[in-house]
Amino acid sequence: MQVSFYGHVRQYRNIQKEIDANIQRVLESGEYVQGPMLKQFEKELAEFHGTKFAIGVGNGTDAIWLALMALGIGPGDEVITHPNTFFATAEAIWVAGATAVFVDCDPLTKCIDPAKIEAAITPKTKAIIPVHLYGQCADMPAIKKIADKHGLRLIEDNAQAIDAAGDGFRVGELSDAATTSFIIQKNLGTFGDSGALTTNNADIDARVRKLRNHGSSKRNVHSFGFNSRLDDIHAGILSAKLKHIHAWNDLRIQWAARYTTGLKGAKNFTLPHVRPGYRHVFHLYAIETKRPEQRDALVDFLVKAGVDAKTHYSIAIHKQEGYPWGKGARIVGPVTHAEHNAATCVSLPMYPELKPEEVDYVVAKTLEWDAAQK
Ligand SMILES: *Cc1c(COP(=O)(O)O)cnc(C)c1O
Repeated sequence: MQVSFYGHVRQYRNIQKEIDANIQRVLESGEYVQGPMLKQFEKELAEFHGTKFAIGVGNGTDAIWLALMALGIGPGDEVITHPNTFFATAEAIWVAGATAVFVDCDPLTKCIDPAKIEAAITPKTKAIIPVHLYGQCADMPAIKKIADKHGLRLIEDNAQAIDAAGDGFRVGELSDAATTSFIIQKNLGTFGDSGALTTNNADIDARVRKLRNHGSSKRNVHSFGFNSRLDDIHAGILSAKLKHIHAWNDLRIQWAARYTTGLKGAKNFTLPHVRPGYRHVFHLYAIETKRPEQRDALVDFLVKAGVDAKTHYSIAIHKQEGYPWGKGARIVGPVTHAEHNAATCVSLPMYPELKPEEVDYVVAKTLEWDAAQK
């Protein structure tokens, strides 16, 4: 059996009529950039998130640095995050001209460990960027308490967790802004790139709208800005898919439970930890091998068996030689848990359109590998 890592085409087939109809509407409207479909999708996304504003931008990375710039954060400022995330979280801090400061993650959830944040705060610290890694919210109430105490801004990197919630809070509710990505492989993904910010802050909304469009909110009048817009054709695709995202995430949760039940007895890896009361939307179902040297062996074993397993993210950002070390980026305290996560993570296929027999096959092969370990 072959089990692919993504189900993009299956998803398209399931709602082809709705997607095609929206694409057709955009094509026939004659308005393709910042047109009515974008406005409609922004309204729907804000409603979905329960925020006042949603602003479509070019991609999830732009959304982060646009949020930083809209908050006036740049050169000389420090932004705290954790190093076991997709490179873009730190890349966006770099692009904004600020300094990334990395602290360790929580050993169970792999999200930033709130207990490690205060030691990293200096007079230069301006913001914290928690990442809702793999689809589970970071401990936002604890992080917000620290941010409020020290007068720091909070930007949630919500690229992986649309429609997730914590115990008594939703993504995007406890921060200045939440950023998201709609690249195809995300839970809500278009056939290409795009992203968005959601916020309740009218000032951030106005600034990002201007920044994304060459610093212009009035024809021919410009200030500092960029070109980072969400095309109407993608807005149409996303609008069609947004109606299904909650049910699709429910299916991810169901497959995750099937994996967890099937893999429970294994001795050579640990399974994802879901915090009580949290809605983890399983962008990824990531397990960790007990020992680093087992990681590539498990991935190779699964790939040879037809299971497209991957790693997210196998090089922690502070180990990326391409990051501008020596220009101020720094690590505070040991980041042992983040390093362990990078060294041992294996992601199993996860998407709503999986079939029970595919999940069961992945379970069987993973258990077969487990049983063969000494
Ligand atoms: C995907 C992702 C991004 C970047 O989104 P793009 O749309 O690819 O630019 C940022 N942060 C995290 C955690 C992501 O997973």
